[in-house]
Amino acid sequence: MTECISVFDMLKIGVGPSSSHTLGPWRGAERFLKELREEGIFEAVNRVRVDLYGSLSLTGKGHATDLAVMLGLSGADPEYVPIDSISDIIDDINLRNKLNLGNEREINFIFFTDIIFNKNFLPFHANGFTFTAYTNEGEYTSTFYSIGGGFVVKEERIVAKEKEELKKSFPYPIDKADELLKYCQTLGKSISEVVYENEKSIRTEAEIDHELMRVWNTMLECMFTGAHTEGILPGGLNVRRRAFDMHKNLIGEMPYNNPQEWLEVIRNTEVKFRQILKWVSCFALAVNEVNAALGRVVTAPTNGSAGVIPAVLMYYLVIENHDADEHHIKQFLMVAGEVGSIFKKGATISAAMGGCQAEIGVSSAMAAAALCEVMGGTPEQCLMAAEIAMEHHLGMTCDPIGGLVQIPCIERNTMGAIKAINAAELAMETDPRNAKVPLDKVVNTMWQTAKDMNNKYKETSEGGLAVTVNNADC
Ligand code: SF4
Repeated sequence: MTECISVFDMLKIGVGPSSSHTLGPWRGAERFLKELREEGIFEAVNRVRVDLYGSLSLTGKGHATDLAVMLGLSGADPEYVPIDSISDIIDDINLRNKLNLGNEREINFIFFTDIIFNKNFLPFHANGFTFTAYTNEGEYTSTFYSIGGGFVVKEERIVAKEKEELKKSFPYPIDKADELLKYCQTLGKSISEVVYENEKSIRTEAEIDHELMRVWNTMLECMFTGAHTEGILPGGLNVRRRAFDMHKNLIGEMPYNNPQEWLEVIRNTEVKFRQILKWVSCFALAVNEVNAALGRVVTAPTNGSAGVIPAVLMYYLVIENHDADEHHIKQFLMVAGEVGSIFKKGATISAAMGGCQAEIGVSSAMAAAALCEVMGGTPEQCLMAAEIAMEHHLGMTCDPIGGLVQIPCIERNTMGAIKAINAAELAMETDPRNAKVPLDKVVNTMWQTAKDMNNKYKETSEGGLAVTVNNADC
């Protein structure tokens, strides 16, 4: 039974630094509040305890999982909460040992004793977390799993999923790349046109257009913010932001007042050949520095890999096609979302399940296919672009130093973006009849590699750079 994943499930607006460790637990806390209300015990709760397991426990401090659950329990929405207010909410909880449950009822909450970091893993998934609410009459417990990209499930819901999926299905259900290709061929449509038809079955055209542009504008604002913020990233590794200086050297003294004007200025700037990679890297660095500083980003398909897609889309707007308009932006995002959902269904987008190939590798494949379509590639070439991009990320481990989404994460987005551009260019120059590796095969290979990968390299900070490079070295 085909899972119906919308473009907006793959491209979610949220807060950094991690989709699986920040956005997922945050959304889990919101769902727990909903359950308390449905159970009729919300008004009686006098204390809540949170248990984090597995990867959420091992790298949760660096990934702000503890802050995310407090914000979720406080009723803050990651999509809309003013970024400036986040530290006030957290400081208030820590100062008074009180939490405003659902932004409605004050309860006791002691950070050091009410959030427990359990090193053991729950059997169902590496990112498990349990909430326990206490009342005078007893307690209510609920366990969630953050399965990557901000998606949150409950174990029992997997069983119920089939029934749910029967209720809502797209006109063109797609699990695999070859199904997508068949729709494109039989309908004579591009990938984005097929995706648009599916989206129209759950939203109006006006809603789709509005939401796609909201996603893009959030990406643009994020790049703008990152390119104009200097200093040291939080977390203790003393990582200096690099997008600021790089951007200053690239743009010089050009005048602008907001992200839109900034975009136009860059589009009208003569970009020298030797500067192209610097610009692409600057866009990717900017996003992931904002992400590392708990800023607002678009999960694409995860927060750790949020810089790849905006950087490649900017490359298209700034370098490839100065006449590109909103239509191209929407086209790009729809193709990217669909390719991401194929990886989610056939493999994983969770680093705790598959290492960094599941994050940077998938984002690079998404961006490569999207770039290929807006550059005029056929659906066959777009899928080939995605395949090429992933093929050269296979086996990439997740080993963030200090459990923070900074090293190697931030730079890795620049590499993912550049590989995506190269993959799209290679696909544009290749006759798909000569392709040897279909996208579905590489999706499957990624999943097999994920299963073979040692747990040390799956977002636990127990292997790789996280071990060979000491925090004190940084
Ligand atoms: S190493 Fe890759 S997968 Fe791991 S946190 Fe960093 S970006 Fe995400």
